[in-house]
Amino acid sequence: MENILNLKCLICGRHYDPAEVDYVCPDHGDDGILDVQYDYDIIARQITKAGLRHSGEFTIWRYKALLPVDANAALPPLSVGWTPLYHAPRLASKLGLQNLWIKDDGRQPTASYKDRASAVAVVKAAEKNASIITTASTGNAAAALSGLCASVGQSNVIFVPQSAPQAKIAQLLVFGSRVILVKGTYDDAFELCLQASKEYGWYNRNTGYNPYMCEGKKTAAYEICEQLEWDAPDRIFVSVGDGCIIGGLHKGLKDLMALGWIDRMPRLMGIQAAGSSYLYEAWKNNEDILTKPPIDAQTVADSISSGLPRDRIKALNAVKETDGAYISIADDDIMRAIPELARATGVFAEPAGAAAYAGLVAAVDRQLVSADENIVVLNTGNGLKDIAGAMEALDLVQTKPFRIQPDFAALEQVVAGWDSD
Ligand SMILES: *Cc1c(COP(=O)(O)O)cnc(C)c1O
Ligand SMILES: [Zn+2]
Repeated sequence: MENILNLKCLICGRHYDPAEVDYVCPDHGDDGILDVQYDYDIIARQITKAGLRHSGEFTIWRYKALLPVDANAALPPLSVGWTPLYHAPRLASKLGLQNLWIKDDGRQPTASYKDRASAVAVVKAAEKNASIITTASTGNAAAALSGLCASVGQSNVIFVPQSAPQAKIAQLLVFGSRVILVKGTYDDAFELCLQASKEYGWYNRNTGYNPYMCEGKKTAAYEICEQLEWDAPDRIFVSVGDGCIIGGLHKGLKDLMALGWIDRMPRLMGIQAAGSSYLYEAWKNNEDILTKPPIDAQTVADSISSGLPRDRIKALNAVKETDGAYISIADDDIMRAIPELARATGVFAEPAGAAAYAGLVAAVDRQLVSADENIVVLNTGNGLKDIAGAMEALDLVQTKPFRIQPDFAALEQVVAGWDSD
């Protein structure tokens, strides 16, 4: 890959050749997260804004010159990326804002943002001739890896907490993965998966461990800016669990700055659930994340439940370096955000996806944003991923169907009730 210079440890700054290290800095063990460093002069010769205008490739591979894959690598056939960016004027005016967009990654092939990373994972695993890929996940990274593997016939083993939503577990089994349901937390599943991959030599896709996942996740930043005709937004709201998505967005935006394709850095707003707010606490109290111990994570937003965010170094840098903020949101407010976002935009998000919108509502309330800012909210997961969660949200906002006998008189009675509403 001539576009890659090296892999840089975010703790000690040491550089490694990609052929020499697969995952983390040998000197810093599992915490030694690496960042892929690129040669932007080479990249600038391979990809241009003008060239993109004529590109017929409407997937993440549109930006292949900026990704850690060989120019002639075989790419998985599922259509990952280039998800819609919806202008949301009614929701904007409800919040007193002038310009708001919803980027809907619920529209990915396995219905979450994680497809962006898993698409890169199957290419990297094929490069290594891996017989098995493995990952630990709260559910979506698993479903994404599972689906992408199915698309290329790649064997895989998946570790998820047994509490993962049924729809996500169904996806894994339908796609034919070997599924290990761990009677413990996501953090337990992560450790077990790590041990298994070291013991058996399986290729590991784990978030915040495999340096290339952040590279897949950066592609939404390119899409947002291109969809806004390279006029970068002022802020991007995104929910944060392990921190790989927000770290990836930051990386993508830094790439665009390095290429001179955007002229200002959007502020990144990281939204955490109050019951899983490691990064919010670390940011607010200026704590050292290399020594801060894990917390006991608990939230209805299963996709952002992480006691020890694995990509915490990149995630904290993303907010600090862009002059953004972390915001912590109570579970009930996350749940209420599901129907509120859906009713104003037609976008049905799972709890972790709606959390980003709940974060925007809180930011408006606290006057952290001004009315004339251009704001993007990222929906990271489809609402159909967690029907039990959606039903709970409807309970909270007291939305019920009308249950009637199959006759017109019964219907008339219901309709008459609406008139007096
Ligand atoms: C994984 C996930 C997130 C959080 O991403 P991190 O990289 O773990 O911070 C948010 N929303 C959904 C739907 C997810 O699946
Ligand atoms: Zn190091």
